Amino acid sequence: MPSASLRLAVVGAGAAGLAAARELRREGHAPVVFERAAAVGGPGSTRPRRRRTDPLGAAATHSSLYASLRTNLPREVMGFLDFPFVASAATSSADPRRFPGHEEVLRYLEAFARRFDLLSLIRFETEVLRIRREPGVGWAVASKKLGEKGSGEEEVYDAVVVCNGHYTEPRVATIPGVDAWPGKQMHSHNYREPEPFLDQIVIIIGASASAVDISRDIASVAKEVHIADRSAPASTNQKQPGYNLWLHSMLQIDRTQEDGSVVFRDGSSVKADVIMHCTGYLYDFPFLGDDSTITVDDNRVDPLYKHVFPAEVAPQLSFIGLPWKFEYDDWLAEQCSYPPIEEWRKLMYAASTKNKAARPESYRDEWDDDHLVVEASEDFKKYL
Ligand SMILES: Cc1cc2nc3c(=O)[nH]c(=O)nc-3n(C[C@H](O)[C@H](O)[C@H](O)COP(=O)(O)OP(=O)(O)OC[C@H]3O[C@@H](n4cnc5c(N)ncnc54)[C@H](O)[C@@H]3O)c2cc1C
Repeated sequence: MPSASLRLAVVGAGAAGLAAARELRREGHAPVVFERAAAVGGPGSTRPRRRRTDPLGAAATHSSLYASLRTNLPREVMGFLDFPFVASAATSSADPRRFPGHEEVLRYLEAFARRFDLLSLIRFETEVLRIRREPGVGWAVASKKLGEKGSGEEEVYDAVVVCNGHYTEPRVATIPGVDAWPGKQMHSHNYREPEPFLDQIVIIIGASASAVDISRDIASVAKEVHIADRSAPASTNQKQPGYNLWLHSMLQIDRTQEDGSVVFRDGSSVKADVIMHCTGYLYDFPFLGDDSTITVDDNRVDPLYKHVFPAEVAPQLSFIGLPWKFEYDDWLAEQCSYPPIEEWRKLMYAASTKNKAARPESYRDEWDDDHLVVEASEDFKKYL
């Protein structure tokens, strides 16, 4: 039985916010979803960025997506349980590739929002500025429409669901001497296309998906690309066969110098034009105060019961989308009387990860798990 309708606020209309809004609606509520972008979709949508903490000071209003970006997981894995991410009219597909471009992901999220009639719940171009607890009353949420002046409009809600994502506040590496280094530093968040790096020497810090994609993108035009990878063995200092790419251990970056050199621990150095930090993002909840009862330390949000509820203020405040592990998702699904994540999905995730390691250049177009695609397609028939 649905409970009596409550005044609920959801912060963010990315994948997590849309799913939360749909579930709250199923429980008989009509949440207000605040989204500072003009459209649904998290990193894929264009939105005004908060300038507060961009440590490299890049001035822009945009998301973190680069032009060549395709998903790093197959579409079958990424879809919502009962709204498969298949190339079909229902998902407004225009890019049927198994690892599609980011615009296809946006179209899919928009289709999800339309299918479950969520758009009318969303206040677009409206940023949540502050959330304050009013004991005995609820949570005062201050929000401001894009372009409006003043400190925002405040409304009181019974509960707030935080779905603001984790890809806004860049994390950058600490490099001794970098303040006096004359080159340009940027974060992958601000990378768009390779052309500006023509004939330049670029140091890329990191080894995750963005570092892999961007290093190869840039290597097509740059003079040299050096990847400083924290996980590479300490002695690594190798040219990659067939490419203008060198791999170094991040532990080997000793310092940067005023003459433009980046000096490695083994004494070698490279005079570089650009240091690109592909070093991920920081969890950030700038609109929450101490009364939320949580703190964030090195992307650990504490104290949260099962990564969702701050015990002191539960269930009136909750966080969606913090953990990553399948085991956790299965536990959570069980609590909510949903089935666990399908076996094919777990196997496909593992197969894709393996394939990506084996074929970093071509994993988006060549794979060995067609049998799992067949299994997924069979499963999807329940929902199509
Ligand atoms: C470059 C890049 C590539 C990626 N590629 C893949 C991929 O291939 N496969 C994959 O599975 N995942 C990928 N991801 C991760 C994927 O985007 C996230 O897992 C997903 O977006 C998380 O959804 P979310 O709803 O938690 O957060 P988000 O999608 O980030 O949504 C959060 C929303 O909250 C809004 N918001 C934030 N603060 C406020 C505020 N104060 N007021 C109002 N609105 C606010 C934001 O505008 C945003 O729309 C990628 C991420 C990045 C950055």
